[in-house]
Amino acid sequence: MSFSSDTKDELARIEPESVCCMLAELAAIVSIGGTIGLMSAGRMRLTVESENAATARRVYSLFKRLFDVRAELTTLRHARLGGRNTYRLTLHGDEAAFVLEGCGILRRSEQGHIGIRRTIPKEIVSRRCCRRAFVRGAFLAGGSIANPEREYHLEFVLGDESFAASLLRFLAKYDLNVKAVSRKGAYVLYLKEGDQIVTLLSLMGAHSALCALENIRIQKDIRNNVNRVVNCDSANLQKTLDASSRQVEAIEYIRDHYGLDNLPPLLGEVARLRLDYREVSLQELGEMLNPPVGKSGVNHRLRRLCELAQALRQKSEGGDTT
Ligand SMILES: [Zn+2]
Repeated sequence: MSFSSDTKDELARIEPESVCCMLAELAAIVSIGGTIGLMSAGRMRLTVESENAATARRVYSLFKRLFDVRAELTTLRHARLGGRNTYRLTLHGDEAAFVLEGCGILRRSEQGHIGIRRTIPKEIVSRRCCRRAFVRGAFLAGGSIANPEREYHLEFVLGDESFAASLLRFLAKYDLNVKAVSRKGAYVLYLKEGDQIVTLLSLMGAHSALCALENIRIQKDIRNNVNRVVNCDSANLQKTLDASSRQVEAIEYIRDHYGLDNLPPLLGEVARLRLDYREVSLQELGEMLNPPVGKSGVNHRLRRLCELAQALRQKSEGGDTT
């Protein structure tokens, strides 16, 4: 089972708070996953398809509870898609029209003209409880979520551009930074940030999915922090080693061309310690001196050694050329 189908199974098991919410959820599912067909003699047909069995069961039960209609169920097996099933629910004629009108999708004018609404029916989402149910239905019909171990990505795939724009505006009211893109003739709304996905899961009432995602986020955070600490430590160590190797080079030059015994005692002592302890920091080096010296004191002495080595090199180069 994928994270996405687990989430849908959880959502499809939530008992709607009341009839208004059942209708809002069904309206979202039918708006996104439904197809209206016109048959001979102006007869209408409504089909709702889903690859998720729990969603199909949910739609069947909502049709029954809200409109007292029994949809015809067909299961289509796709040999190409690894034997995945698609569940198709069909309503015919008056039953189809009855459900579509009830969901606010089909509108009849006083003259008897029929229109199809391609945006979110406002009267259906006027209550807070219903808005949550609507988002849940939208996810059941057109949503998917990537396994958060791999990436943070939640999306809605929608067939209708007007409906996509309407859902985008609707979700923006929840401070969700939804992005839109078109893909293979469909309109995709998606979220990429962990925080935003958590907000949406909570809005829909997918609490198990939310907890699973939060646990993964915590584990990822711990891993990232450890990596940051390791990265930071090795960068500092590299800096120490780079500086140390320059100092050692200078001190070795002095030893070979001038003699460490000829150095003033304070410089000689730090020079010998640096040669013996190449990986330690200036602070640690200072603590080894007798009496101990602070970091800047050690730095000052090492700089003087480097300057001396530089002067000795220049002198010998000058000597070579003359
Ligand atoms: Zn409600």
